[in-house]
Amino acid sequence: MAKNSSRTVGRHFLHIPGPSPLPDRILRAMDTPIIDHRGPEFARLARKCLDGIKTIFKTTNPVIIYTATGTGAWEAALVNTLSPGDKVLMVETGQFATLWKKMAEKIGLVPEFIATDWRIGADPAAIEARLREDKKKEIKAVCFLHNETSTGCLSPVAEIRKAIDKAGHPALLMVDTISSLASADYRHDEWGVDVSVGGAQKGLMLPPGMSFNAVSDKALAANKTSKLTKSFWAWDEMLAMNKIGFFPYTPATQMLHGLATGIEMLHEEGLDNVFARHDRLAEATRRAIKAWNLDIICRDPKYYSPTITAVLLPEGHDADAFRALALEQFNISYGASFGRFAGKMFRIGHLGDINDAMLLGGLAATEMALALANVPHKKGGVQAAMDYLISQHGSAAKQAAE
Ligand code: PLP
Repeated sequence: MAKNSSRTVGRHFLHIPGPSPLPDRILRAMDTPIIDHRGPEFARLARKCLDGIKTIFKTTNPVIIYTATGTGAWEAALVNTLSPGDKVLMVETGQFATLWKKMAEKIGLVPEFIATDWRIGADPAAIEARLREDKKKEIKAVCFLHNETSTGCLSPVAEIRKAIDKAGHPALLMVDTISSLASADYRHDEWGVDVSVGGAQKGLMLPPGMSFNAVSDKALAANKTSKLTKSFWAWDEMLAMNKIGFFPYTPATQMLHGLATGIEMLHEEGLDNVFARHDRLAEATRRAIKAWNLDIICRDPKYYSPTITAVLLPEGHDADAFRALALEQFNISYGASFGRFAGKMFRIGHLGDINDAMLLGGLAATEMALALANVPHKKGGVQAAMDYLISQHGSAAKQAAE
């Protein structure tokens, strides 16, 4: 920002890993008069959303929509299926996994963590090994994050499902897909997930304040015997009201207008194209970081995240000061750092309604900020990202011509 100026010019470069940039089309869809949430127009809107969201989770079972952030849907997943004292196996992929574990403790569960150094995703072999040891089948659920937003590591859901099956263990499988849904391939039914936890403010491109539980038949059966206290989160009342197109309480009508539009936009682009775009932007980001000669927090390419890439700054460089400088000078924001990487890394979000040129703007601002902050790095990161994007568009253009 110029000296002595109270005006910030142009659009903010929102490169936090969610909430992601709100598309104008969704904003406009929400800019509409309030309707009666017990009337027929609402029932039509609700039906559209309740049916539409199933196509995003890839399930034919119901998806429960909460007026709450993702944290609420975490709690809903646990309290609807489990009972006080139940053991749950979780994987310490980073800050958000740690928060989910703390929540499990607070509500009376007994979570056990498989530790990591916060630089990889969940390992199917480690989960299988722990389940094989559990001869008495005391572990009632395996819970992990598809995408750990605090580090940028994606875990292999289908492989973990196979690992649970190979161990012959009956535990429920619960997956947090908050920062991967509608950005990375996700298949609730095919992958045999029992509860998938989603949020609105990332791949679905909505403002924060809405979250989801996609459920399996096994989860619905567990709900019948689960004894943890639940009221607002209870699935049964929601499912009964949803069947007739309504909610047990005043729903977030404007958010539902946004959701219907967000789902429409995702299908217009095509889900596979959405995933390919996220993969392309993530790879371009990694190419830039590697060209800068900086370290990516995710240390094993098989776990690379399509939605967020965390960058480690060299020893002695304060990542919070770097973020503040980049915001001040270039009007760009990155994700903050947590836990063992507090003050040491910044996270580049590349998810939601973002295209190649938007990403390049963000990477250019980052390269300039690295120079201004005197962070030792090589130049040419933006060029490396551009070269990669050109190669991808080149092959796409060639394919189209053939
Ligand atoms: N899980 C993941 C993977 C997240 O990224 C977040 C938030 O960013 C949460 C859970 C918590 O969601 P919320 O902040 O919407 O409550």
